[in-house]
Amino acid sequence: MSRYVTFLLFFAIFCGPSVRLAADDANAASPSRLAALLIDGQNNHDWRNTSPIIQRTLEYSSLFEVDIATTPEKGGDLSSFQPNFAAYDVVVSNYNGNPWPDSTREAFVAYIKGGGGFVTVHAANNAFADWPGYNEIIGVGGWNGRDEKSGPFLRMRGGKFIPDRTTPGRGGRHGTYHSFPVDVRAPNHPILRGLPTRWMHANDELYDSLRGPAKNLTVLASSFSGRDTRGSGEHEPLLMTIRYGEGRVFHTALGHSTESMSCVGFQETLVRGAEWAARGTVTAQGASFDFPKTKQVSVRTLPAAPAADGWIPLFNGKDLSGWHQINGTARYTVEDGAIVGTTNDGSPNSFLCTQNYYGDFELMLELKVDDELNSGIQIRSNSFSDYKNYRLHGYQVEIAINGTAGYIYDEARRGWLSKDRTDPTANAAFKKGEWNNYRIRADGDSLKTWVNDVPVAEVTDSMTAAGVIGLQVHGIRRGTGPYQVRWRNLYLKEL
Ligand code: ZN
Repeated sequence: MSRYVTFLLFFAIFCGPSVRLAADDANAASPSRLAALLIDGQNNHDWRNTSPIIQRTLEYSSLFEVDIATTPEKGGDLSSFQPNFAAYDVVVSNYNGNPWPDSTREAFVAYIKGGGGFVTVHAANNAFADWPGYNEIIGVGGWNGRDEKSGPFLRMRGGKFIPDRTTPGRGGRHGTYHSFPVDVRAPNHPILRGLPTRWMHANDELYDSLRGPAKNLTVLASSFSGRDTRGSGEHEPLLMTIRYGEGRVFHTALGHSTESMSCVGFQETLVRGAEWAARGTVTAQGASFDFPKTKQVSVRTLPAAPAADGWIPLFNGKDLSGWHQINGTARYTVEDGAIVGTTNDGSPNSFLCTQNYYGDFELMLELKVDDELNSGIQIRSNSFSDYKNYRLHGYQVEIAINGTAGYIYDEARRGWLSKDRTDPTANAAFKKGEWNNYRIRADGDSLKTWVNDVPVAEVTDSMTAAGVIGLQVHGIRRGTGPYQVRWRNLYLKEL
């Protein structure tokens, strides 16, 4: 916690222009989530392992609740596949398989024409080559017999993408699997605003020579498909929007595999594209701290497979692999199987954070802190370029000897969420100068904590669905310290 931040927040709320405060807070959007329907069940790609990444990416943005509609397997009877599209703000397709029943096709077209949102991911643009309505909706597609009769190629000439209606040939190719830079072509579109104009995308297939009606289509980003990787020698559209009737469509041709979908650039554009398709606006105005750089890929992997009992070790007891520091200049080292945080005179709050993101989980750990130091455990915390210049913010479980240990504070955001911190049993739970056991459970909008098995906090809050776990070393006054805090035996179980 920080009295100073609490004061600033108070000042901002009561003395500052309230509109500015709302605009400042990247997460101030209504906690009610958009409803997304993810379609899968058939694909010549690994849909069983990529659909969970799509679902998790959308839900971890705190913007979506995702339902999944899985069709019967290839060759199965699809007559009962009749999703209620109209119940959703956006439909996301990870499907490339047998034709849907006529009534499902009609309902899908009517849904989009009437203002529904749609996102097509990678090979979903291979699907339904013979369905004209679908091809208008996705703009361009590939394979399954697509050729000049399907529509033009999109070719960059004179700095603009224009339809090439004269060159014959099959629609849909790709060269070798590789990492490649993505170049933004529409930097002011809400889906891309505030993101770097070039980033390095993790290993993927670079789709080239897609063809289709390409009506009402805007190319948002493209990549050069070089001959050296057996590509087309052309700039290829990879992120697009299409307007169809009243509906909005986001088309990402990226995402061949779990590796490709682990790219933070794939994930953040997917979230932004899905939100734009759902409601025409995009909440995020900047990039996450781990967004890929011009020449450097950045991935968010799914957590390591847990042991049979479901618990994942977050710390290997030897080094800080899987962790990185966000904000501040406190020092983090490993001693005797524990992570040791040491204050640095004059530093603001520092956080050692997991590289992975976690949403619903139970976390167990032990910790010990110098009497003089304030510390905390961040959960579901985030860092964005457009929120206080990458300031880590989010739920913090307090570590302090003053009776507030285990209560929940909202770091760099709203201050104390545990309004009543006077339970005498909870106040006495923390053992000064000794190792303490913390248990933290985050399940949907329920956040609960225990200190040495004593229940402390019970907070209901839906602002943030997921984020990193971070170990705080609080800033200290100049001329004081150094002080230390230690953490060990950190285990997490996803719920
Ligand atoms: Zn592929």
